[in-house]
Amino acid sequence: MIETIKTARRSSKIVARSNEMTIRPNGVVILSEVKNPRISLLLLLILSLFGANVPARAQQPTGQAIYSLTQQFLLAAPKRFNASPGHLAAENFIKSHFRPEAAKGNLETDQFIANTPLGQQTMRNYIVRFPGKKDGVIVLATHYETNYPLKDIAFVGANDGACTTALLIELGQYFRTHPPQGYSIWLVFDDGEEAVQSWTESDSLYGTRHLAAKWYADGTARRIKALMIADMIGDKDLNLLEETQSTPWLRGVLRQAAINTHHTANVFKTQGAEEDDHLPFLQRGIPSIDVIDVDYGPHTFSTPDGYHHTAQDTLDKLSPHSLQISLDLFMESIRLINQR
Ligand SMILES: [Zn+2]
Repeated sequence: MIETIKTARRSSKIVARSNEMTIRPNGVVILSEVKNPRISLLLLLILSLFGANVPARAQQPTGQAIYSLTQQFLLAAPKRFNASPGHLAAENFIKSHFRPEAAKGNLETDQFIANTPLGQQTMRNYIVRFPGKKDGVIVLATHYETNYPLKDIAFVGANDGACTTALLIELGQYFRTHPPQGYSIWLVFDDGEEAVQSWTESDSLYGTRHLAAKWYADGTARRIKALMIADMIGDKDLNLLEETQSTPWLRGVLRQAAINTHHTANVFKTQGAEEDDHLPFLQRGIPSIDVIDVDYGPHTFSTPDGYHHTAQDTLDKLSPHSLQISLDLFMESIRLINQR
């Protein structure tokens, strides 16, 4: 029953989007819903006959591409806890997608030593830079590792770390072929978001605490116009939280992005405060937002927090459609931030 309703709602969305195509030159989010390339070509032909200005979008990322890349990432690096072979595989997976940026000196490895309750651990953030035309930077960040305390269960973090890594990689491939015309875009794949033992202020957010302090000390923080964290945004039942510590104007940007992309049903139905990777940057005065869906899977007596941090956080709990929604919201938010 629920599935039927969902399918019906989705079909009507596609119709609404199709209608909008002729009035929005930035129709980026629209054709990506159409899975059949022949239909896409037909639509492009019709649009060109009517003189609509349709940008080339052959390399536009899609929710399906992000989903497929999540699957590849999980195959290459299912368990990515600190100092494991899987963690190294995850790092190599990320780096392998940014060889052209590395060749230009735009891939930075930010290695540091974290003092954890289990002793010192070497951690690495990766920063990929796509220079823009305006002075200033928009940072998109996600953690890529899995929890050290969950190393002995089959925890792969499909939603928690993997799909957001895939989202950023796909966005990076887009910005490679479509260099930012506004602010520069930096992608951050941060390490050590999860607690090494159990979550406290000092046992969590290792990578972003390190990076925020470094960027504050070297003056980079002043150049950052906005920072967006992507976390757990692939859930089939997508319900993005209005995270109440996030910078108010950036919450406004996401709200507007949801209106512009017709995703209001998935955005800000609930409010709450989350401890996440945005906090160290907020504390350094960088406008930041945590884009997160904390309501993941059914809450039962044995799993009060749903699939979160359980062996159930697997690819089948995600959907290309939800990843498309998240992608649309990030792309549109970037456009809106550039317009401010
Ligand atoms: Zn987590």
